Amino acid sequence: MDLHSGLPYWIVRNSLLDYFHPLEDDLSTDIVIVGSGITGALMAHELCRAGIECCVIDKRSIATGSSAASTALLQYEIDVPLCRMAKIISEENAATAYHACLQSISDIKKVLKETDVDAGFEQLSSVFYASCSADNKLLEQEYEIRQKHELPVNLLKKQEIRKRYKVKVPGNALVNETSAQMDAYRAATGLLTYHMKENGLKVFTHTNIKKCTETSDGCIMITDKGNKIKCGYVIVATGFEAGQFLPKKIMDLTSTYALISHPVAPEYLWPEHCLIWETADPYLYIRTTDGNRIIVGGEDEKFSDPEHRDSLLRKKIRILERKIRKLFPDIPFKTEMAWCGTFSSTKDGLPFIGNWPGKERIFFDLGYGGNGITFSMIGAQIICHKLQDIKDERSHVFGYDRIEKYW
Ligand SMILES: Cc1cc2nc3c(=O)[nH]c(=O)nc-3n(C[C@H](O)[C@H](O)[C@H](O)COP(=O)(O)OP(=O)(O)OC[C@H]3O[C@@H](n4cnc5c(N)ncnc54)[C@H](O)[C@@H]3O)c2cc1C
Repeated sequence: MDLHSGLPYWIVRNSLLDYFHPLEDDLSTDIVIVGSGITGALMAHELCRAGIECCVIDKRSIATGSSAASTALLQYEIDVPLCRMAKIISEENAATAYHACLQSISDIKKVLKETDVDAGFEQLSSVFYASCSADNKLLEQEYEIRQKHELPVNLLKKQEIRKRYKVKVPGNALVNETSAQMDAYRAATGLLTYHMKENGLKVFTHTNIKKCTETSDGCIMITDKGNKIKCGYVIVATGFEAGQFLPKKIMDLTSTYALISHPVAPEYLWPEHCLIWETADPYLYIRTTDGNRIIVGGEDEKFSDPEHRDSLLRKKIRILERKIRKLFPDIPFKTEMAWCGTFSSTKDGLPFIGNWPGKERIFFDLGYGGNGITFSMIGAQIICHKLQDIKDERSHVFGYDRIEKYW
C-alpha cells in the first residue's frame, strides 16, 4: 500500500537516512519488532532500556511509512471527546485513556531527552474550538467531564480566543497548556540509530514479512526472499498495513491531506504558536514549525485507495488554504508543498495494544486515530511491561478484549 504521496515535508527537511541492510539469511532471535516507524522505534527503545534483546525489521527504508508523513501534533485530547467516549467504554475507562495520553506526552519528552535525540519536540498550548455555535454545548459538557477527572482544561469564550490568539474562531474553545509537537521522522530515525550504536540493536530494512505463524513456543516468519525467522515473540508495529497480520478487520482506513506554507515573518504568526483544531468531523488542524512555517491538515475522506486519494490532492489543497485564510485573514499564506496519507480510526477512538485473544506470542501495537503517536508511546510501555510480567492498569482499556463488545 502507498502510505503517503506528494512530498512530506519531514523527508525534505531531514533528508532520507541512507541505511540499507536487508536480512540475507535465516535468523533465530528472541523478539522481533516488525515496523521501524515511530511505534517500532519507541517499542525498541522501551525494550532496549529494559535490557531485553530485540531486532527491528522493515520492508521500507527506516521510518518512511506514515511516520514520515505525520504532522505530529501531540495531544492528550482524543478524536472522540471524553463525554462521548464515556458512553461507549464507561466513564472510568475513558478517563484512564485520556490520562494515559496526557502522561505519554511527558514520556515522549523524557525518551527524547534521555537519548539526546533532537526531534524538534516543543511543548505548546492547544485550542480546540467549536466549529459552529451549536457545538459550544458539546464543549461545555466536555469541559465539565474533563474538570471532574482533573484533566488540564480551560473553557474560553470566542472573544477571548480571538483576542488572545488572534484567530477568528467561530465559537468558544477548550484550551490546555500541555500539548506538544515534534518531527516524528526525526524521532524514529534518531531513536533507532541511538540504540544501534548504544545497545547493538539490529535493524533489517527492505525485508518484507510475508507470513507470520504462532507455534507452541514462539513464532515463525517468512520473508519475501524466503528466509525463515524463528523467534520467541513478534511485535507487530506495522501501522496502517497491519491488516495482513490480523485475523479480523478492526479499523476503517481513510485518506488525509496536509500542506505546509512558505516560512512566515514571525510577527504574522499567532501568539504562543498554539496547536489549533476544531469540533467538525473531519476536523481542520494547524501547527507551526521551528522554521516559522504553518502546517495545515485535515479534509479526511472515508476511503483508502491511494490513486483516488492522490487525485484529490489539488482540490484538497485549495480547500485547506481557504480554511486557514478564513481563520487568519492577515497571514500571507502560501503553500510550499503538500502531501496526502492513509490514516485509520477505530469506533471508540482508541488504539489496539496487546495480544489478539488466543495469540499469546504475537503482540499488536497499533496506534490508530488522530493521537497515533501518543498511543505509540503507551503501546510500547504496555507491551514491554507484559513481556516482563509487570501489571499495567492501562492494558484492559486499549486491549483486544473489547473487540467482542464493540464490533
Ligand atoms: C498526514 C498525517 C497526519 C498525521 N498527523 C498526526 C498527528 O498530528 N498526531 C499524531 O499523533 N498522529 C498523526 N498521524 C498518525 C501517525 O502518523 C501514525 O499513527 C504513526 O506515524 C504510525 O506510526 P507507525 O510506526 O505505527 O506506522 P508507520 O510509520 O507506517 O510504520 C510502520 C512500518 O511498518 C513497515 N511494514 C508494514 N508492513 C510490513 C511487513 N509486512 N514487513 C515489514 N515491514 C512492514 C512499514 O514499511 C512501515 O515503515 C498522522 C498521519 C498522517 C498520514
